[in-house]
Amino acid sequence: MLWLAPGLALAANIPSTIRDDAKQLRQRALTESNAYAIVESLVLEAGPRLAGSKGDEAAVAWALLKLEELGFENVRAEDVEVPHWERGETRVEITAPFPHRLVATALGGSFGTDADGIEAPVLMVTNIAELEELPRSRVEGTIVFFNDRMEPTRDASSYSRVVRNRAYGPSAAARLGAVAAITRSAGTSSDRIAHTGSLRYADDAPRIPAAAISNPDANLLERQMQLQDVVTLSLSMTSRHLEPRRSANVIGELRGTDAADEIVLIGAHLDSWDLGQGAVDDGSGVAIAIEAVRQIREAGLRPRRTIRVVLYANEEFGVSGGKAYAEKYSDQVAQHVIGLEADLGPGKVWRFDVRVAAKALPLVEEMHKLIEPLGIARGNNEAYGGADLVAMRDLGMPVLGPRQDASLYFEVHHTVNDTLDKISREGLDQNVATYAVLTYLAAAIEQDFGRLPPPDSE
Ligand SMILES: [Zn+2]
Repeated sequence: MLWLAPGLALAANIPSTIRDDAKQLRQRALTESNAYAIVESLVLEAGPRLAGSKGDEAAVAWALLKLEELGFENVRAEDVEVPHWERGETRVEITAPFPHRLVATALGGSFGTDADGIEAPVLMVTNIAELEELPRSRVEGTIVFFNDRMEPTRDASSYSRVVRNRAYGPSAAARLGAVAAITRSAGTSSDRIAHTGSLRYADDAPRIPAAAISNPDANLLERQMQLQDVVTLSLSMTSRHLEPRRSANVIGELRGTDAADEIVLIGAHLDSWDLGQGAVDDGSGVAIAIEAVRQIREAGLRPRRTIRVVLYANEEFGVSGGKAYAEKYSDQVAQHVIGLEADLGPGKVWRFDVRVAAKALPLVEEMHKLIEPLGIARGNNEAYGGADLVAMRDLGMPVLGPRQDASLYFEVHHTVNDTLDKISREGLDQNVATYAVLTYLAAAIEQDFGRLPPPDSE
């Protein structure tokens, strides 16, 4: 009988040739990445890309050309219907006791006011739970001000908390009779700029207008509220909804060899908000996904499974592309061996989370060893995976979740400051190396990652 060291037996899971290739790929991707040029080209040639806008259309054309030019196979645009909304002008002013114009922007999807606008006393709360403890008589006829401060966190946990005010606050306020809602920006910038983002109107509440105000303006409003019993605010907004438009998920592949019908999906979203350039969110993710796969091909590697890059339509405004993809490929979910997405900016990956079947956890440990030299710790088996992948994940597709450092991301997220100069090449290229290695490994190995149970049963 042969006595093997335990480490030796485990390491045999991923063949040494594949591991060697992955190490070379890692080095190559760090030093020869072209990702910055890709995001620069997107920002320069398509600009901001709000669903249904001219920029959105330009981005689809850009992506088709770029994927062709970079040598991707089966390049195509798959039709997706997207909502079409215009921000218009937003004017928010404190009218008493101490008049001030506040820097504000409409929340995505908000209806506007009529031409006269709204003027009403302000009711300040920290969050929805606090609001819902108040009697209707306190809320009726007011403009509810959700005032929860977001602090920078590497894992984006503070965003998960405050984003609830932005998304669900307006309907919670309307249900209790409020006439409008404003939120402290769900972002960390101390600049006088407002962070936008989508709201979700509930079916059982009036659709009241809602805007975000900048953090310094939220401080000012909060101070007035502490000093005075009654503070009044006027709000006028010209936001409006238009007819839905056609957009597209843009797809390109590196075809596999003996297992070409098995797919490793790497995604990012092509759309962006209208205020900035959409460089960080999610131009950087688009560049990471494209460049990771280009690096694999340039390294002369041709893995057995097909690697499919999906640049999703309209993530920001209802995840239209992610849902459309899952619908279109609902009969091919089982062929999607794994998915991963880049949608948290260009901050370095610091932890490797996954969501895979238990049997694949030893395999994941081995994959981790090959990205560990990039400064990445091993995480948990509860990865989110990315908004665009959720629909496929819920159908059973496992996900790899490299966690990008979000400490600086929410300084510029959904603001006018989301511009190219905010992208660090070093961070971007560390991402490219991470995504390239993980994508390559997943496509090159024999093993799979099992399937996930339906979300209810977890
Ligand atoms: Zn995004």
